[in-house]
Amino acid sequence: MDSFVNMLNEHQIPFRKDCTLAELSTFKIGGPVEYVFYPESVIQCRALIQLSRDQGKKLVYLGNGSNILGSDAGCEEWILKTDRLDEIRLSNDGVMTVGAGIKTVKASSFAAKSGFSGLEFAHGIPGTVGGAVFMNAGAYGGAMEQIVLRTHYLDDNGNEQILEGKDHQFGYRKSFFIQHPEYLIVSVDLQLKKGDSAEIYSLINDLQQRRRDKQPLEYPSAGSTFKRPEGYFAGKLIEDSGLKGFRIGDAQVSEKHAGFVINRGHATGSEVRQLIKHIQKTVQENYGVELECEVRYLGSE
Ligand SMILES: Cc1cc2nc3c(=O)[nH]c(=O)nc-3n(C[C@H](O)[C@H](O)[C@H](O)COP(=O)(O)OP(=O)(O)OC[C@H]3O[C@@H](n4cnc5c(N)ncnc54)[C@H](O)[C@@H]3O)c2cc1C
Repeated sequence: MDSFVNMLNEHQIPFRKDCTLAELSTFKIGGPVEYVFYPESVIQCRALIQLSRDQGKKLVYLGNGSNILGSDAGCEEWILKTDRLDEIRLSNDGVMTVGAGIKTVKASSFAAKSGFSGLEFAHGIPGTVGGAVFMNAGAYGGAMEQIVLRTHYLDDNGNEQILEGKDHQFGYRKSFFIQHPEYLIVSVDLQLKKGDSAEIYSLINDLQQRRRDKQPLEYPSAGSTFKRPEGYFAGKLIEDSGLKGFRIGDAQVSEKHAGFVINRGHATGSEVRQLIKHIQKTVQENYGVELECEVRYLGSE
């Protein structure tokens, strides 16, 4: 394996060895990962796809890890973290090109400061732009699908590809990329509209306040645990089932917002999964509604 480290060094690819999924996720849960890579360019991403394949290893792509639940056993795959794919530029016609690893909060602030509207909804979403395109993240009536023009990605052979408009197959928390987790989003072109900075900031502040009032931001979590079932609100179904505050070990249904499962300190992946199954079963029995998990599992069960 020393020769592998030599190859990483030859390509000047920053990496960490022997990490945990807990360190890489906002849920702060999950066991060991052998390698985490932090490529700084598309060329380095391409090299990593090739090098990992040569070592017989699969790569998993992660942004800020704000929508994942790591397994206690960790994951066999190696992780490519997009943090350093961090270009950001905005042209006069409102087309903003953003590296996959830029946090949505930063992209939203950048747009607001430049007097462009369209990303206000994303300001409080604690992920990256790459993760937001993958998930078609959305909030308060806004969603990535409303602003994504095109996505630049690498396929599983490391070839550069471009996806345009409708080909993203966006739907509620759905995208082309969810069907193709083997593809790496490297950057995204967003179409924003000229607006008034003061109004944009005022909307951002208002939405931030609504989050602080309603969401348990003081605890580690992965946001809303479940997708919104058609015609219902997951949080209300869970609350009406008497599960607010219910806990298994340190995994708890938030007392502030029943749609969130939170980590009270030392929750394990197994406790969270048990809690999720318990919620799904209870809501199914009480209301006949199937709750689909929005949080994505990472690693072996
Ligand atoms: C407190 C809190 C509030 C939240 N509020 C919202 C909300 O209002 N609306 C909402 O939609 N979500 C919300 N979320 C969930 C989460 O922040 C979003 O889903 C976010 O878009 C995930 O981005 P990420 O970079 O963290 O992705 P990650 O969690 O790192 O990854 C999520 C998935 O995307 C894939 N992925 C990530 N980056 C790439 C890439 N560059 N190329 C290919 N695949 C990639 C990963 O493999 C994984 O399957 C919230 C989460 C928290 C903790």
